[in-house]
Amino acid sequence: MQGTILILDGVSTNRIMLKVQLSAAYYHVVQSDGLQGLTALARRCRPDLIVTAMTLPDGTALDVRAELQKDESLRQIPIIAVTAQNNPAARLAALAGGIDDVLSQPLDDLILQARIRSLIRARSGTEELHLRDGTPSALGFSEPAATFSTPASVALLTRDAATGAVWRSRLKDLTRHRLQSHQISDIHALMAEPVPDAIVVDLTGEQPQQGLRLLADLRARSMTSNAALIAVVPVSAPHLVAEALDRGAHDVLQGGFCAEEMALRLSSQLRRKASSDRLRASVRDGLRAAVRDPMTGLYNRRYALPHLAAIAARAAESGTSFAVMLADLDHFKQINDQYGHQTGDAVLIETARRLKSQLRPIDMIARVGGEEFLIVMPNTDQAGATLAADRLCRQINAMPFQCPGMMQSINVTTSIGVVVGPPAGADPQLSPEQYATALIGQADRALYGAKGGGRNQVSLIPTAA
Ligand code: GH3
Ligand code: MG
Ligand code: MG
Repeated sequence: MQGTILILDGVSTNRIMLKVQLSAAYYHVVQSDGLQGLTALARRCRPDLIVTAMTLPDGTALDVRAELQKDESLRQIPIIAVTAQNNPAARLAALAGGIDDVLSQPLDDLILQARIRSLIRARSGTEELHLRDGTPSALGFSEPAATFSTPASVALLTRDAATGAVWRSRLKDLTRHRLQSHQISDIHALMAEPVPDAIVVDLTGEQPQQGLRLLADLRARSMTSNAALIAVVPVSAPHLVAEALDRGAHDVLQGGFCAEEMALRLSSQLRRKASSDRLRASVRDGLRAAVRDPMTGLYNRRYALPHLAAIAARAAESGTSFAVMLADLDHFKQINDQYGHQTGDAVLIETARRLKSQLRPIDMIARVGGEEFLIVMPNTDQAGATLAADRLCRQINAMPFQCPGMMQSINVTTSIGVVVGPPAGADPQLSPEQYATALIGQADRALYGAKGGGRNQVSLIPTAA
């Protein structure tokens, strides 16, 4: 099942025709004749999209939207309004009121299907982000509206420079966003600049294929994949509407370029983009938090294990060696006992800073226990590992720790166990994670040796068995 669509129309033949059309495309269809009982029905059937007649027996498409806005779990449902005839003024009013698209009778099956697919796709993309974000909005609760606080940048890609100039001059007083124009054939100029927030692609020329390819290309490139894409299609070629949507356009102007309509669609697409940008950033922050130790900012064990497994696998492939180190502060419990837990924390933070300052960008350091740090150094042989570990040891013991709010400084030392991973010889029976765990076990044994040897020293196991 592709999803559930709610049809609202006071005329039963319209409902039946639409239901036949949509059921043939495997949508689950629910129908009703007007606003009456709308909220309860929508809560029950959870539609992915609503197709409503612009005029209902007891209201309009805008009333449908207003009704849904009252319920936080229904606010995000996209709405397509269907009008009896093409009425540009009514279309603009509906778009301005937050209706996602307006189609007129008779409904072109291809266009309708493509429009539904693109709206459901856009919505499920944000829902997935919401889920990963883990915020209550995943459950359909609302979030504050996102907008671009500064003007966004909009690129108009037109068939020729003259068209670009005309579009820009007609649009400039209707939008606060920054406009630039390029020819479709000169995509390099677009790529040379910071990626625009929205890209308008002109399909009204003689060769719309070029623009269609460009849409797919922009959507596929990682640089532009998050930009809002809007296509402009001439009245004479309605089939291009469906093609543009299926190639990745988020929105389409069906009747050629109309500055008022473009301004409205731009602002709603940019709003959608601002909101998904913000979600993406919060997912990124959430992911970051999930792999970091909040106190020291270092990676945590959850991140470190798979990372070590990947480094070990890469080393085996390339025939290089790598070092795994466990550094454990000496008599740390005494520091806590003598100076208090807060000072202990400050020592841990400073230790993290000092150790990190000695590492290369390709090395990884994680806090894997209370006062225990794991360091993974790719492309490192035994001699390099010994040098590096000695340097780390010195970095801690050579200069007493000055802790905030304390007159005297504290002498801190660390013991380090090192194992140098072999390029080959790993037990092929072990999974990468098991191999990583085994390596840490060996580093831990080396560490035990360093502690036994009197602490404040490095102990190295030449090669992992
Ligand atoms: P050794 O030289 O054998 O490693 O002795 P140690 O005292 O460092 O080792 P032990 O394992 O006995 O004690 C570690 C202490 O680290 C115990 C625990 O209270 C403390 N600790 C663990 N996590 C934290 C933390 O986040 N902050 C502070 N301040 N102390 C912590
Ligand atoms: Mg310790
Ligand atoms: Mg310890």
